[in-house]
Amino acid sequence: MIGLISATAAGSAARDRLAAVWPDRVRVYDGPVGDAVRRAFAECEQLVCFLATGAVVRLIAPLLGDKASDPGVVCVDEGGRFAVSLVGGHGGGANELAREVGELLGAAPVVTTATDAVGVPGLDTLGFPVEGDVASVSRAVLDGEPVELDLELSWPLPALPSNVGRPASDRIRLTDRAVEPAGREVLLRPPSLVVGVGASKNAPVEEVLGLIESALHDAGLSVKSLAELATVDAKAGEPGIVAAAERLGVPLVTYSAEELTGVDVPNPSDAPLAAVGTPSVAEAAALLRGGELLVPKRKSAAQPAMATCAVVRRPARGRLAVVGLGPGARDLLTPRAKAELRRASVLVGLDQYVDQIRDLLRPGTRLLESGLGAEEERARTAVAEARKGQAVVLIGSGDAGVYAMASPALAEASDDIDVIGVPGVTAALAAAAILGAPLGHDHVSISLSDLHTPWEVIERRVRAAAEADIVVTFYNPRSRGRDWQLPKALAILAGHREPTTPVGVVRNASRADESSRLTTLGGLDPATVDMMTVVTVGNTATRQIAGRMVTPRGYRWQEEPN
Ligand code: SAH
Repeated sequence: MIGLISATAAGSAARDRLAAVWPDRVRVYDGPVGDAVRRAFAECEQLVCFLATGAVVRLIAPLLGDKASDPGVVCVDEGGRFAVSLVGGHGGGANELAREVGELLGAAPVVTTATDAVGVPGLDTLGFPVEGDVASVSRAVLDGEPVELDLELSWPLPALPSNVGRPASDRIRLTDRAVEPAGREVLLRPPSLVVGVGASKNAPVEEVLGLIESALHDAGLSVKSLAELATVDAKAGEPGIVAAAERLGVPLVTYSAEELTGVDVPNPSDAPLAAVGTPSVAEAAALLRGGELLVPKRKSAAQPAMATCAVVRRPARGRLAVVGLGPGARDLLTPRAKAELRRASVLVGLDQYVDQIRDLLRPGTRLLESGLGAEEERARTAVAEARKGQAVVLIGSGDAGVYAMASPALAEASDDIDVIGVPGVTAALAAAAILGAPLGHDHVSISLSDLHTPWEVIERRVRAAAEADIVVTFYNPRSRGRDWQLPKALAILAGHREPTTPVGVVRNASRADESSRLTTLGGLDPATVDMMTVVTVGNTATRQIAGRMVTPRGYRWQEEPN
């Protein structure tokens, strides 16, 4: 029996929902809360208390005996947001109950007993199939005990704590072989295998599937490491192949006959050449993205054989994530950026940006920090690490593609690495949100730094923006060594805009010492601007309304008077 205790109207409403769904499993304890909890604790195997954890801890503390016999206790907060497994997680079934209650009430189950961890810390984000004694090995990783790491394939893994990688009886093994996990061993199955498939028209799915499975089995390979099936475009809709991919739970990729013809294969033949225009489908499709041919073309056992397949182990590809951290505030860092920071084993970035997110990194992350100015070197380092097969994250403030590291890095990068871009809130947008709505119509960003761009180019662009009446945000507006560029740029804009044109100046947007000011083209003192600042100059339609900078969405009224 599950005893239900609540103290408030909201709690009672949630309690009644449980009682309605589980009429035979629950008993409602009314009356003074302390008394209700004591009675329920004595009479029930489990309790759900719609009370703060603090209150419940105080009430049950004197009642606790031993974890084999105490009831499991779950607390649900008043807002119904969390179902906390408080005591008796395993023996008392509170973990399971928290999940069930969470499901029913739409509350997140909160389970803190570590052996319930579903993945090896660090490796739980990969989305790889995992086999073996995950609970024991996770425990060992968490407890800082030595854990052996056996990488049969090099694969871009996240950072692992320093206790992982020492000889030990607990073991993490990355393999695509069809082996069974030993005791205290976890097998990670990277998506390393590609199966090329050819099939005659209407080849039955059982035949295609049987062929793939026996090819993998005979070669001692695990179907759990299958990344994709590959074939020729003409067979993209071949029902047997499509259904085989579906049943295996992997995507089907296809290539043109022309692309496949260009692949060097050991067993070309005339039959596919006549049928689909390439001397090889299975081998060529499997090999097209490179890799090692583990199983050359083989035919199904049926007479006549209607399917062929070949198996390739892909070369591991390094991973370069180019991540924008946003303007500074932690809550303007996107969840995706956070996930990428935790997905990496190597981090490359400017020291001041590393400081911004250091606490989010996994222990064991290798930091390659450098000071201002070393952009090219940082870009090269990041790419070189990724090409070694590492999972690298290259960070930049705001958006990493805006006056930042993405372009130098991608100019260096070859197509043998995967590149993942994560957008960030760039300074112009962070500043605009503070100022009001200055970017409501067409706008440009112009960097006033002439360190890498000749001033003539910058000036030409400022002039074009001035003539086109476009709202302008200046990045890198002014530094100690560069003080005449901003006044010059403002003067160009002033040639086409009134001195009363609104100008927003935002310094350290979203950081602890954020400040902003709304002034005018005529009133702005450039000396008050520095490198931590962006300056947004309105166009002829921009207005100051109730202390905010607003550029109307349309200005048809200007183009068409009346
Ligand atoms: N990648 C960054 C821009 C790098 S250029 C981004 O997308 O925001 C550096 C310039 O950006 C600075 O000189 C300043 O003009 C501007 N900047 C960056 N962060 C800022 C912030 N939090 N507040 C105001 N300006 C900022």
